[in-house]
Amino acid sequence: TTQIRLTTRPVGEPADSDFTTTTEEVPELTEGQVLLRTVYLSLDPYMRGRMSDAKSYAEPVPVGGVMVGATVCEVVESRSERRAVGDLVLAYTGWQTLAVADARHTRRLDPEAAPVSTALGVLGMPGFTAYAGLLEIGRPKEGETVVVAAATGPVGSAVGQIAQLKGARSVGIAGGPEKVRALTEEFGFDVALDHRSPTFRDDLAAATPDGVDVYFENVGGPVAEAVTRRLNLYARVPVCGLVANYNATEAPEGPDRLPGFMSRVLTLSLTVRGFIQSEFEPTLQEPFLREMSGWVRDGQVRYREDVVEGLDNALEAFRGLLVGRNFGKLLVQVGDD
Ligand code: NDP
Repeated sequence: TTQIRLTTRPVGEPADSDFTTTTEEVPELTEGQVLLRTVYLSLDPYMRGRMSDAKSYAEPVPVGGVMVGATVCEVVESRSERRAVGDLVLAYTGWQTLAVADARHTRRLDPEAAPVSTALGVLGMPGFTAYAGLLEIGRPKEGETVVVAAATGPVGSAVGQIAQLKGARSVGIAGGPEKVRALTEEFGFDVALDHRSPTFRDDLAAATPDGVDVYFENVGGPVAEAVTRRLNLYARVPVCGLVANYNATEAPEGPDRLPGFMSRVLTLSLTVRGFIQSEFEPTLQEPFLREMSGWVRDGQVRYREDVVEGLDNALEAFRGLLVGRNFGKLLVQVGDD
């Protein structure tokens, strides 16, 4: 198996020199295990956190360890009755071409029901994050305005579309004209804005004449600064991610904006609630899979994938994810499907 290991903890943007590629023999299977060949590796923003030893909700990857990540794999050998050779499964085998796993830690996928890659995107963890965060915390009502950034990504695109299915008006924010066009033309957002445009603040004001009832926070930074100024009384802010900060090495320059923000939390009776999606798995995983599969099948929720070829290109693609060079759910095609 070929593996990508974390060699040193990156400072700022992860560098090639922070990683090493190794090749090893795979161990013999013991009872209950399967040998998995990676077809797709999911690249997700949370991986930047795993590269760091700063205190977090999950343990970091140890120095010298194989980078973690969700994968879609083919079973190539099996010593478990649960999985047969040829099965396609969802697993968590990380940045490597082959891996041994406990069959109980895999979920069988049905390629007839949906393309298997969707188990890492719209029908997987990112889609679930959108569903749970929006419906449990955001709770959009008919006619309300929902704003989300990173809106062509797997989380944001699902947030905007689910908001519309609930009768809300969706305002999507993305970087660059091509993504902005996709927001209205492909994903059906009511309004699309470019956060890189010099007129972004004015555009946002024009797009939210009645203010903002739900701001689904994916990015932080200047976008959050602008949107939180437009929140309405009793607005909800599910805090899902702060990707603008993930490579940051120091606090942003400028005045301290926390007092102004806290004053809005108080006077507007805001609900600002962070979450890690796994919190909602016990209660919402089943309704999510049922509802979202239906929406995707009927074309009510569309998705876009950005597939990069080869494990060798994973790190460069991951660097791009944190600055918006991806366009849709970022996947590495590691082997043939
Ligand atoms: P995306 O595919 O949307 O990729 C991240 C996107 O963030 C980039 O494509 C870019 O889009 C945008 N971005 C990067 N920097 C900035 C910036 N400075 N300002 C504005 N936008 C920026 O990723 P996902 O859909 O997988 O994840 C979206 C968010 O959800 C992330 O913050 C992630 O950490 C979080 N998340 C949280 C989970 C949880 O349990 N809490 C679970 C899963 C994801 P553009 O070019 O449009 O700017």
